[in-house]
Amino acid sequence: MATIKENYTNIITDSEVTQNSSLFENDKEILGFEKETTNNNKPDRKVKGLWVKFLDNSIRKNIELQYYNKQLLNKKGEVTSTENKFANDTLTALNYIQTNDADKNLLSGTNTVKDIYTNTKSKIFIINVSENEKGSSYQNKNKTLIFDSINGKRMTNERNEIIYQSPALELGHELGHTFRDIFNNVKPMTEANFNLAKFIEEEQLVVEKFEWPMAVKLKEGVRKNYITNDLKPYIKMESVISNEPLEE
Ligand SMILES: [Zn+2]
Repeated sequence: MATIKENYTNIITDSEVTQNSSLFENDKEILGFEKETTNNNKPDRKVKGLWVKFLDNSIRKNIELQYYNKQLLNKKGEVTSTENKFANDTLTALNYIQTNDADKNLLSGTNTVKDIYTNTKSKIFIINVSENEKGSSYQNKNKTLIFDSINGKRMTNERNEIIYQSPALELGHELGHTFRDIFNNVKPMTEANFNLAKFIEEEQLVVEKFEWPMAVKLKEGVRKNYITNDLKPYIKMESVISNEPLEE
């Protein structure tokens, strides 16, 4: 992975993200894991917010927990914890992609994750990808983000370098689509009105304005173009926030 790290330097030098002086501070430190000290700061109940939905096998029931201020809350708005791996991985991923304002997008200049959990008028759900599928996606129709917390991406960028991205970074990309739906009213394309050029144009916007600055700040594999060469697109990573593959 050393060569990929070296390559970042070249890509970053000519980027506007370098103007952010905090970019390379706290290299190893994941700021997102710090507990907020303002726990009395409860979500506005009119805001529907960002929720993690999962099946709790011990009670055979679907559980919904709200993501707010780097923590999970129960339906009463109380800080809570869970044994569920998917829910905890999602919490870890959401906190990680806010490290050093990595989720500050280049479209509105605001923090994508916070915008979503503090300003949505409909509930946004993050659910686990089904067992026989790989990869994350956002479904505008149901306001649901399907999250693959196990597999990250392996692809080549516009410089033909092999790059790797964590599952968390792909979650960040999909939250870009969520943002576009919620705040920019970008309507979903149905199969009937599918337009490839428009599809790619929207993907390119999400890559440039959401994924790219996030990848740079998190020091993961960066691409500037959506059109990349997927060598083996989904690959198991060491953890939800790791872009080190467990296998090749
Ligand atoms: Zn996309």
